[in-house]
Amino acid sequence: MKRKLIIAGNWKMNKTALEAEGLVKDLVSNIGSVQKTDVVICPPFTALETVGRLIDGTPIALGAQNMHWEEKGAFTGEISADMLKALGCRYVILGHSERRQYFGETDEGVNKKLRAALEAGLQPIVCVGETLKEREARVTEKVLSDQLKGVFRNFAVEELGDVILAYEPVWAIGTGRTASPQQAAQVHRFIRGILGDLFTPHWAQGLRIQYGGSVKPENIRNLLAEVNIDGALVGGASLDNGPFARIVAVAEEMSR
Ligand code: PEP
Repeated sequence: MKRKLIIAGNWKMNKTALEAEGLVKDLVSNIGSVQKTDVVICPPFTALETVGRLIDGTPIALGAQNMHWEEKGAFTGEISADMLKALGCRYVILGHSERRQYFGETDEGVNKKLRAALEAGLQPIVCVGETLKEREARVTEKVLSDQLKGVFRNFAVEELGDVILAYEPVWAIGTGRTASPQQAAQVHRFIRGILGDLFTPHWAQGLRIQYGGSVKPENIRNLLAEVNIDGALVGGASLDNGPFARIVAVAEEMSR
């Protein structure tokens, strides 16, 4: 089955709205005519409005890095799915390992966020991945299968729409250590298999699974050469126009 490649840039807690402006203007002139690849930029909440305005009318889509599962109410410091939609967001990253690691996010919470995001019409990018300790203890598959079962608990396949999954081995995030394309592809196949069992093999075949973890222009080609790798979630290399534009250009060239 043909799956459209998707490259998303996760800026994390980087760039003021003013700083974002320069970067996005450069990105629009470099990759604003991308056709075959889905490209998403996920700036911090405070730059969503600025970035959204600058990419309006281009094929680049806007995404957020997190949201709360409630629609509104007394949740100081939180942001709802509707608020993101109102700013023009189409995507939202859910369950990033930094949220799990530093802010106590659990599969149960990600499960609630997933439901809220889908109900609001946002396209979720759901992150899963094992730590170095877990990989070394050879429990990667168990960890991933628990995460997937937890995050997708009580969903029917018809409710899932165009969910995107991001496999991000925690030991490869921001460390400069990338999973080898073969290592990543093996896990992607495993994830597709688990989700095929949980839902339907047909749905799992159509699911796009991004790889994330120190993706750079130098390694993207070999990663995308694997048929089970359908794009990338890019952290550090999305903070500069040059590397991010080069990653997108390779994806565009390798489009399926
Ligand atoms: C990420 O933040 O999702 C990520 C993969 O970061 P980096 O590319 O910097 O490893």
